[in-house]
Amino acid sequence: MKRLLSYLLWPALMASAMAVNAYGMSTAMPLLWLNISYFGLAACLFALERVMPHEPRWNENDGQLWPDIGHTLLSKSAVQVLIIVPALTGIGALASDEGAAWWPRAWPVALQIVLGLVIAEFGFYWAHRLCHEIRALWRFHAVHHSVTRLWFVNTGRFHFIDTLISVVFGLGVALAAGMPQDIIVWVSAITAYIGLLTHTNVEMRFGPLDYVFNTPALHRWHHSRNPAEGNSNYGENLMLFDLLFGTHFLTRRRPPVDIGIDEPMPATLGAQIAHPFRKTAGGAQALEANV
Ligand SMILES: [Zn+2]
Repeated sequence: MKRLLSYLLWPALMASAMAVNAYGMSTAMPLLWLNISYFGLAACLFALERVMPHEPRWNENDGQLWPDIGHTLLSKSAVQVLIIVPALTGIGALASDEGAAWWPRAWPVALQIVLGLVIAEFGFYWAHRLCHEIRALWRFHAVHHSVTRLWFVNTGRFHFIDTLISVVFGLGVALAAGMPQDIIVWVSAITAYIGLLTHTNVEMRFGPLDYVFNTPALHRWHHSRNPAEGNSNYGENLMLFDLLFGTHFLTRRRPPVDIGIDEPMPATLGAQIAHPFRKTAGGAQALEANV
């Protein structure tokens, strides 16, 4: 029974969050419903992490709750101000309702979302990969990789500059492709849901989904201390470009429990925000396995 549940959880949670967002998109308050779907999913994961954890050790306090929440609020605000609010209110919107002339507006919305995910993924993939391969960018990304446990709360633990780099790449590609506003909102929502799910400490199984989506199993390898394992699985939502560019990593072995980085990272939010700007900030891990 538990085994069956572990296979069903990921698709069931994704489908539920998307159903709430789909309903919200048909109302006058889509931003409210987007947040309800996001926090509803977070609440489910909070409960499930206690009932069926992947690593019981990752449920122990690491003293990073407030820095995790602080980074999340900064990053979430940056993203909502930059993309979601303009798209949903029409004020200062970067993209048009109908998108570019070539955009296949006549396609079913579901297919347009798939196309949107693939296009944005190209930007997300390269932003993430470059953050691992360029020392100056790794300094910001190291804040995320410094976690020693994975759970839904550190989904948003990104230095806000790191988040902006990722969003500018993903959104830049979307805008260049002439993606319509509602598809940009859908891609943003799915990115938020998959982000929560990839970091969650819930025991789940994925089967063939590991070759389509960025799953928790793949992301646990991405957080390995070993650069040969960690410099892989860069996909934000989809594994398409990891498969194409040879960075997809998955073995039958259990992913490491002892995750993190082998370089110093301060313990407080303010010091973590300042850390990448310091001259001595590390970049050893990124450089060590420069591919
Ligand atoms: Zn990374």
